[in-house]
Amino acid sequence: MDPDYSADWTHLQQAAKDHLWLHFTRHSSYDAGDVPVIVKGEGAYIWDAQGKRYLDGLAGLFVSQVGHGRTELAEAAAAQARQLAFMPLWSYAHPKAIELAERVAGHAPGSLNRVFFTSGGGEAVETAWKLAKNYFKLTGRPLKHKVISRAIAYHGTTQGALSITGLPTLKQQFEPLVPSTFRVPNTNSYRAAEITAGYIDVTDAASNEAFGRWAADQIAVAIENEGPDTVAAVFLEPVQNAGGCFPPPPGYWQRVREICDAYDVLLVSDEVICAFGRLGHMFGAERYDYEPDIITCAKGLTSGYSPLGAMIASDRLMEPFLADGNMFAHGYTFGGHPVSTAVALANLDIFERERLLENVRDNEGAFLTTLEKLKDLPIVGDVRGAGYFYGIELVKDRATKETFSEEECERILFGYVSKALYDEGLYCRADDRGDPVIQLSPPLICDQTHFDEMEQILRVVLEKASTML
Ligand code: PLP
Repeated sequence: MDPDYSADWTHLQQAAKDHLWLHFTRHSSYDAGDVPVIVKGEGAYIWDAQGKRYLDGLAGLFVSQVGHGRTELAEAAAAQARQLAFMPLWSYAHPKAIELAERVAGHAPGSLNRVFFTSGGGEAVETAWKLAKNYFKLTGRPLKHKVISRAIAYHGTTQGALSITGLPTLKQQFEPLVPSTFRVPNTNSYRAAEITAGYIDVTDAASNEAFGRWAADQIAVAIENEGPDTVAAVFLEPVQNAGGCFPPPPGYWQRVREICDAYDVLLVSDEVICAFGRLGHMFGAERYDYEPDIITCAKGLTSGYSPLGAMIASDRLMEPFLADGNMFAHGYTFGGHPVSTAVALANLDIFERERLLENVRDNEGAFLTTLEKLKDLPIVGDVRGAGYFYGIELVKDRATKETFSEEECERILFGYVSKALYDEGLYCRADDRGDPVIQLSPPLICDQTHFDEMEQILRVVLEKASTML
């Protein structure tokens, strides 16, 4: 039976406004209206408390890989809670954590065999940085502690992960943050001319490759500037999310690997979004054919049926901690929770049984082609991404790539586009962490009917938005 909140609606709304502190939310935007309340999910759709259906174009928050309403995941959680609801991984183990660690290590590239569970993505990023520092202290290079990451990249909100994040406006309110992080350019090929101050404009495959080479080389420049003896790690996403999906130009990752090897700097692939099928592979590193030293992941590992994250490290990085008496003095009460690990195992069973990775690989071309139809609208500057992970960049002038002013972002992106997409039945995200973009990242079960539905709703809304410029 569908949940019915109609009798209690006034109280629910008041309680939401009086007591529930929403994340990354301007609460004032609900002063004159209701807080949207989602009550049900099934497949690629979610429903609000009034019974209205929305296509989940963001998989919740890059999370719901297998879609909503999977009773077998709910049952896996219930069965585990009945048998053993809780046991921490502090000196003790439980079977589901062991089984999942083995399975995740089996999917991870090369020698990434050591799985440290966390409760989510930010904790995985914190763990990776702490491991990098600790590893170098134990192996005789105690000065190595700094981190390089990319402009506009998001790596989480805890103080270390936020320090690694490359979004100044998200950080300013919380400074001083953990010191010692430094930014390099990202791989926004659409804006390569701006990023390289006119040195490279990406017009074809060759110039894109040259841009990738240049962007990777900026990591070497940053390491040199900081002093190689002080740099511990580079944190990069396979495809950067914030800014609107920046895939790596060909050869980018191979060059980054070479640079990290040359300077003995750890390469951390932050796959909190990109792992577990988002790019058509278990890990983004597999898609782009590189072997990092550490992978951080979360979200799709359980498809959101229970929270879980992980840091996966190479054998080499764990080795010093195996010596007599040593330990990695780090942990989380809920990291590797029995219920979450049981759910993750059942989630990965669905991946295999329903061939979800193949589904993404088979359909990603059609997804992109469908979204690219929107390029006939003057407001659509660029459509980019990979797998089931796309960004649509909105511009004021397609010929010059002129972006929105702050006022236009407020009035058009947040004042109209964001709300209108939702009103038309598409849950996705309008974002201005960088240039204005619409982010799409639906469940991996989606097919052409869903791509068409997204395109049709986007067309209606963006056509109207074009007239507001
Ligand atoms: N790293 C990346 C690349 C992310 O996209 C996110 C969240 O979206 C995080 C880290 C932080 O994950 P969480 O919100 O689970 O802490």
